[in-house]
Amino acid sequence: PLSKLSNVGTTIFSQMTQLANENEAINLSQGFPDFMPDSELLDHVNHFIKKGFNQYAPMAGMMVLKEQIAEKIENSHQAIYHPDSEITITAGGTQAIFTAIASFIKKDDEVIIFEPAYDCYEPTVELFGGIVKRFEMKAPDYEIDWNIVKSLVSDKTKMIILNNPNNPAGKVLKENDMEELIKIVKGTSILILSDEVYENIVFDGRRHLSICRYPELKERSLLVASFGKLFHVTGWKIGYCAAPENLTHEFRKVHQFNVFSVNTPMQLALAEYMKNPDHYNYLNSFFQEKRDFLRQGLSNTSFELLDCEGTYFQALKYDKISDKSDLDFARELTISHKVASVPFSSFYKNKLNENVIRLCFAKKQETLEKAIENLSKI
Ligand code: GLN
Repeated sequence: PLSKLSNVGTTIFSQMTQLANENEAINLSQGFPDFMPDSELLDHVNHFIKKGFNQYAPMAGMMVLKEQIAEKIENSHQAIYHPDSEITITAGGTQAIFTAIASFIKKDDEVIIFEPAYDCYEPTVELFGGIVKRFEMKAPDYEIDWNIVKSLVSDKTKMIILNNPNNPAGKVLKENDMEELIKIVKGTSILILSDEVYENIVFDGRRHLSICRYPELKERSLLVASFGKLFHVTGWKIGYCAAPENLTHEFRKVHQFNVFSVNTPMQLALAEYMKNPDHYNYLNSFFQEKRDFLRQGLSNTSFELLDCEGTYFQALKYDKISDKSDLDFARELTISHKVASVPFSSFYKNKLNENVIRLCFAKKQETLEKAIENLSKI
């Protein structure tokens, strides 16, 4: 057959954004802010472009940026990564994830994922001949039963993919989850790919428990993060992968032939901007306000608001409103009520429909107000 991914269509994010645009709907589907990034950051970009930093960056990234990342990780999690040999700048989180999987997954390797799962994990594993084993987290609380996860482990298990905080469920892992994970991987050679792109968006005083806080996990983990999510610049497509030297060494073999290197002036701008931790420490309360505004605004509707512990996504259960599948409901909501969302079934291989949709609240106050107004009429 011609296709390597015969069951894969166009991502739900592109589909819903297109439907939103065609219907002039408020786009709360794809996760991106509709407000401007800080002008200070933009000024830095301008500065470095004009200063002449317009040619290739080093393959693994600009040293100044890697140093700032190492410092941020050390200050936040007391974990050490060497900027030269353990941090690689990537073209966004998705490219880091792709490269991490490409670097390690061979035919018939098994990879454990937790669903609802960000939609790129599974097809990427498949592309390299890997086999996905999944644990389905379910509404309303999306808890992980670690005994079941343990039963998925075999001597073929090569990697576990974590996404903490979880997109789309807004679930944040607890100390107990990390302890259970440590028990499962101890004494094995299982790798962990930890997608932590929402690390700085956790609510109600929670602490983000990065994989790198635990030496038994850090030594086998590829940690992925994203500046798009950190500084409201998803269109810049810059992120990174932090991993021990032996893993980074393999990662870079693929990275150099995949993107080679990433946008130079923006890396320099990000490094300059990152020097001030206030530029990201405010995010928890900034997004918590938006979350609370949306939840308050929807509290008198028939939508059931599921918990949102982190990320900028709110999950809504709509079974009191409609018995349509979540995909049909999300389409109807976009066309008839002018609010675009993402159906949760897109995040499950088996298209599990629990009548839940996802709304992105990384939006201006007025955008959220309009969405609330439309959703209140249902
Ligand atoms: N991370 C974003 C989301 O979950 C989308 C990224 C993309 O469209 N590839 O909506």
